[in-house]
Amino acid sequence: MIHRKSREEIKLMRHAGHIVALVHQKMKEVLEPGISTKELDNIAHQVIKENRAIPTFLGYNGFPGCICTSINEQVVHGIPHEDVKVKEGDIIAIDVGATYHGLVGDSAWSYAVGKIDEDKQRLMKATEEALYAGIDKMRVGNVLDDISGAVEDVANSYKFGIVRQYGGHGVGHQMHEEPFLFNYRVGDNTLIKQGYAIAIEPMLNLGKDEVVVADDEWTVSTADGTPSAHFEHTVIATDEGPLITTKLME
Ligand code: MG
Ligand code: MG
Repeated sequence: MIHRKSREEIKLMRHAGHIVALVHQKMKEVLEPGISTKELDNIAHQVIKENRAIPTFLGYNGFPGCICTSINEQVVHGIPHEDVKVKEGDIIAIDVGATYHGLVGDSAWSYAVGKIDEDKQRLMKATEEALYAGIDKMRVGNVLDDISGAVEDVANSYKFGIVRQYGGHGVGHQMHEEPFLFNYRVGDNTLIKQGYAIAIEPMLNLGKDEVVVADDEWTVSTADGTPSAHFEHTVIATDEGPLITTKLME
């Protein structure tokens, strides 16, 4: 069953999302060649704590970090580590979750470290474009396949691979709630109702679709070793249109 968020729940989700956005703001500020992903994780933890929230990812199925840090060919679920340092020309996807008064905000963003090549620039641009194309379909009366199709069309227009095994998801009291949201058409005609909250998160690859999971049982990478980008917002369908919760509140 898909839970429709009440006015009070939406308020708390906006607050959780604001904290997630504060973390991203900070990540952008401190990200430079030589910083380790563990340092990024520590800083993220600090921001989440300062704002009286809980890092949603920490301990989730045993995950050891507050953020996921996935560099270049890594797609999602990279584990922060003091020995892993970003360098000029890398792209890094940072995925952040914060729980505030029991409600979750979930947002990922890919960042360039210094100057990156044109392929990576195009990949990041396409994936962000796919995210916003999907968000625009998160409207009362549409169906889930409208979101999936919008993401797929952008990916296809750039001829980039679409990660098939992972996708978006309902979010609220839990990080992962119903429904699952594919990043390509599957014919899911589930009607989007007022109060539905979904984390929309396209993951696009410069090369082919296929991905592999590393021996650490977390880190997902492209099978062909090409770079991957990941952009995600938590979005609620309201009568006024799509409401992105994971951005700074005015
Ligand atoms: Mg996420
Ligand atoms: Mg998510």
